[in-house]
Amino acid sequence: MSIQLKCQNCFAPLKLKDQRELIVTCPYCDSENVLPGTVKTITRVNAQRFSSLLYRYIAEEFNMTGIQDLIMKLNGRLQHASVDFDDLGGNDRRMKAMELVKWCQRRDELDTLTAVVQAERPSSVLELQQS
Ligand SMILES: [Zn+2]
Repeated sequence: MSIQLKCQNCFAPLKLKDQRELIVTCPYCDSENVLPGTVKTITRVNAQRFSSLLYRYIAEEFNMTGIQDLIMKLNGRLQHASVDFDDLGGNDRRMKAMELVKWCQRRDELDTLTAVVQAERPSSVLELQQS
């Protein structure tokens, strides 16, 4: 059984060189595609790269109000701490998104943040089209 992977940006077929590969760069448009079902592994194996993808995605997809909303939903899922929008560094959405991702990374909550982002944007870049 094989899964046909497609680029989420241009729908070109993607080839996996290695089964352990978690992020595949599209040879046609250079988009970085995160493979489905691997988010948990990525946060451990490739946290730096994944968090940079995630923060850029949030900054592009959400405005300041959207990020505040994300934080509210994230706080609803966190058990031991909560994020304070105003305490996060930065005063534009790019900085806020970056600080939010860093905050979650420090507390090992990237999975939680990813789940919240995916719930808000079901067709998010973090999921790959399958056929
Ligand atoms: Zn592509």
